[in-house]
Amino acid sequence: MKTINQQRLLGRFLRYVQIDTTAGEPGGAYPSSPGQLALGKLLADELREMGLADVEHDQHGLVWATVPATIRPAGKEPLPVVAFNAHVDTSPETTGKNVRPHVIRNYKGGDIPLGEAAGTLRAPSAASGTRSVPTTKVIRTADNPELARLVGKTIITTDGTTLLGSDDKSGVAVIMELAHHLVEHPQIPHGPVRLLFTCDEEIGHGINHVDLARLGATVCYTLDGSGAGDIDTETFSADLAVVTVRGINIHPSIGKGRMVNAVRVASALIDRLPKGTLSPETTDGRDGFLHPYTVEGGVAEVKLKILLRDFQTASLAEKAQLIEKAAREVETEFPRSQIDVQVIKQYRNLGDGLAREPRAVAFAQEAHRRLGREAKLTIIRGGTDGSQLTERGLPTPNLSTGEHNPHSPLEWTCLEEMVQAVEVLVELVQVWAGK
Ligand SMILES: [Zn+2]
Repeated sequence: MKTINQQRLLGRFLRYVQIDTTAGEPGGAYPSSPGQLALGKLLADELREMGLADVEHDQHGLVWATVPATIRPAGKEPLPVVAFNAHVDTSPETTGKNVRPHVIRNYKGGDIPLGEAAGTLRAPSAASGTRSVPTTKVIRTADNPELARLVGKTIITTDGTTLLGSDDKSGVAVIMELAHHLVEHPQIPHGPVRLLFTCDEEIGHGINHVDLARLGATVCYTLDGSGAGDIDTETFSADLAVVTVRGINIHPSIGKGRMVNAVRVASALIDRLPKGTLSPETTDGRDGFLHPYTVEGGVAEVKLKILLRDFQTASLAEKAQLIEKAAREVETEFPRSQIDVQVIKQYRNLGDGLAREPRAVAFAQEAHRRLGREAKLTIIRGGTDGSQLTERGLPTPNLSTGEHNPHSPLEWTCLEEMVQAVEVLVELVQVWAGK
């Protein structure tokens, strides 16, 4: 296969991360920060420079483009349209302003000190044993065992004061480089390849303005995964329970026999929810949970918000039932209280919809196989934009794109893992074209 242009890919990544696209507050303007429009414009310009004809930077800040097919279908059926998606925004959990990416070529192994510490520390050798280092500015191999496999590779970190934005600018750079690679190598046989860059994924609004008919794809892949070689095939299914607890408020001086304190009622309810099991603190792997995460209110009324999560969509109803049962028991304990449980649907396990289009995962596995790699099928204890796209009818697994420690100043990526991701996509579009 034709070699991926590593330096150009690195250049893209460094260019994109230096544009501040930190997502803002949900509920305001869309997109929530002007930097997302600036990066979108840059991407649209670069795609036009590559020679793509239908590039559009729409009124919501989304970028759409197509790499046209290089072959015609053999039969009457048109070739499947394959879409790739990444999001331009970065997490508001850590600032993305003034990102100063640090490129470490030929990584020697060992802990990676960041920022000012980087000048004074070297990777510890076996002989020198441990040395004292600042705790927050070091990417430690103890916490990042995957670094051991990446000795000799190119690692990109922050200076320790911002996030890197590899989530999801690695995905953006990989898709952009794929487009450039396909344009430069028209001998690679593929059908239409749709590119879509979205905004505000980090605040839950990544696909608000995605019109599936306009995308016109048979399958989509989000490039928003960690490391290399993973195919995320399942996410949680998710509901939100909003519990309204009503008490009776009256001045405490005359409260005897009259006051019903919603704070106490709500506490009793939370106390009845499972703690030793079915909580985020006590589960991992495929086990779901109930997670009370917000309490607001006072004597007259308290609102609780409880996340319901499970890989088995049907189990969400059982979890809602546990809350409902606890609510009725607590109402009996506090006879004049009133507890309403409202369950709001959030998103559904990617796996439910992928089952209807088995080629989505099988072809991604085949792409890895052709490169002599074995893909790992993985599950995410959370949701992706792909969960919603899949539920709306477009099967969308998530692929590795070299992300590590997202949302943190200790975020890093590996150039060679991004190259691997581009290689996988180059194979994948050919598999979908039946080549
Ligand atoms: Zn992401």
